[in-house]
Amino acid sequence: DPSINDEFETTGDKLIGGLLTADFDEGSCMSRYHKTYWYRKPSPYKPSEYLVSKLRSYEKLHKRCGPGTKAYKKATKNLGHDNKNYANESVGECRYVVWIADYGLGNRMLTLASVFLYALLTDRIILIDNRKDLGDLLCEPFPGTSWLLPLDFPLMKYTYRYNKEYSRCYGTMSEKRAINSTSIPPHLYLHILHDSRDSDKMFFCQKDQDLINKVPWLIVRANVYFVPSLWFNPTFQTELTKLFPQKETVFHHLARYLFHPTNQVWSIVTRYYHDHLSKAEERLGIQIRVFRDQGGYYQNVMDQIVSCTQREKLLPELPTQEEAKVNITNIPKRKAVLVTSLSPEYSKKLKNMFSKRSNLTGEIMKVYQPSGERYQQTDSKVHDQKALAEMYLLSLTDNIVTSARSTFGYVAYSLGGLKPWLLYMPNDRTIPDPPCVRSTSMEPCFLTPPSHGCEAEWGTDSGKIVPFVRHCEDIYGLKVY
Ligand code: GDP
Repeated sequence: DPSINDEFETTGDKLIGGLLTADFDEGSCMSRYHKTYWYRKPSPYKPSEYLVSKLRSYEKLHKRCGPGTKAYKKATKNLGHDNKNYANESVGECRYVVWIADYGLGNRMLTLASVFLYALLTDRIILIDNRKDLGDLLCEPFPGTSWLLPLDFPLMKYTYRYNKEYSRCYGTMSEKRAINSTSIPPHLYLHILHDSRDSDKMFFCQKDQDLINKVPWLIVRANVYFVPSLWFNPTFQTELTKLFPQKETVFHHLARYLFHPTNQVWSIVTRYYHDHLSKAEERLGIQIRVFRDQGGYYQNVMDQIVSCTQREKLLPELPTQEEAKVNITNIPKRKAVLVTSLSPEYSKKLKNMFSKRSNLTGEIMKVYQPSGERYQQTDSKVHDQKALAEMYLLSLTDNIVTSARSTFGYVAYSLGGLKPWLLYMPNDRTIPDPPCVRSTSMEPCFLTPPSHGCEAEWGTDSGKIVPFVRHCEDIYGLKVY
C-alpha cells in the first residue's frame, strides 16, 4: 500500500525514532527500513535521544576500528605475543570484545545484545564469531564496516580453550589473584555461561572493570542475558538510566537496532504474514518449548496451554450447545493463532478444537504453525532461518504466550514490545496452578545471575539490591522491571 509508505517516509518513522541510521542501502536488507512497518504496529516505546546519539558515535568508532582498518591491524599484530605485559602500554584508541557463537539462536540473540550493550558502556567495539551461520541470518548492523570477525583472527584457533580452566579466564585469574594493575594481559576470556562462578559473573563490578578496561581484547562465551546485572555497577547504572529512561526497554530497542533478518529470512516472514496473519483482526502468538527429551507432545502441556489461554480470555471457552445458540448473533471476529513449536501436534489439537467452535458461533478462529522441525538443529542454515523467521512472526502478534525459561520466547516478546503471559514450567504429569502469569515487564530474564551485588555480602539476595532488578516470574533468575 503506497499511501502507508508515504506516510512513514515523511514522518521519518522508518528509522524508528532515529534508532536506525539512514546510511544503508535499502535493497540489500529489506527488513531494515520501510518494509518492517507494514507488518508491525509502531512501538509505543521511543528510544531516548541519548541512546540515538550514542549509537551514532558507536557507529563511527566501529568504522574506525573495524576489520580492515589500520587500527585493527595494529591491535591484532601483537596478539600472538601472549607474554607481553600491557600495564604500561598505550592500548590505542581501539579496544574490542569478541562474541563467540554458542547454544541456540535465542541464546545467541540475547547474548549478542548483552555483549553489544557492554561494548557501548565501555567504548569497545563488538566483533562476532562468523564460523557459524549468523551472516546468513542477520544483516550487518553498522554502516560502512562489518561486525563479522575475520576468520583469520589469531585467537580463533584456540576456541576449544575457552572455558573456566583456561589460564586467561577472568574468573579463574581473579580467584588466583593472577591479575592486577601491574600485570595486564593482551586478552582475557569472560565465561558467562550457566555454569559460571560468581568470580566469572561479577566482571561488571567497578573494581573488576578498572582492570578489565585496560585489556585490549575480550573474548566472551555466553548463553545468558546478563544485562540485568550491569545495573549493579553504579557507574553503568547512571549511564543506563540515561540511555534507557524506560528501563524495561533495553532488549526491545537493542534488538530493533541490531537484528535485521537477511532478505532470505525476511521473505519467509513476509510471505507467511501475508498468507495467514494479515487479514485477522487480532493475532495471538503461542510459543511452546518443552525442555524434555526431544521436546515432543505432552498432554499435560496441551492442557496447560488451553487452561492458560481460556482463563486469561485469550482464547474463547468452548460453548455448550445452549450457549452456542445464544451467541450466534455475535459479529464474527477473525482471529489468528500463531503457534510455534518443534512439535506439530499442539497446533493440530488447537485447530480441531476451534474448527468445531467456528461452526457453532460464526467466530472465525484460525490456527497456524509455520514449521514443526521435531528437534533442534542449530547451525543448520535452513533450520536456523526458520527459527529466526518464527521469532519475528511471533513478535508481530498482539498478545503472546511463551514458555518459561525459553530464550526463543524471550526474544520474540521483547522484540515485539509485548508483555507476555508466561507458562510456568510443566511438571511431569500435572498442570501448574495457576498455569501462567502475565509478566509486568518485557525484558528477558537472566537465568543464572550472580548470588549477590558488587558491594553486598556474599549470600545477599541479588534480587534485592536494586529496586527495579528483581526475580523473574517464570523461573529463578533476575529481570529488570
Ligand atoms: P531455548 O532453548 O528455548 O532457550 O531457545 P534457543 O533458540 O536458544 O534454542 C532452541 C532452538 O531449537 C532454536 O534456536 C531452534 O533451532 C529450535 N526451536 C525451538 N523451538 C522452536 C520453534 O518453535 N520453531 C522453530 N523453527 N525452531 C525451534
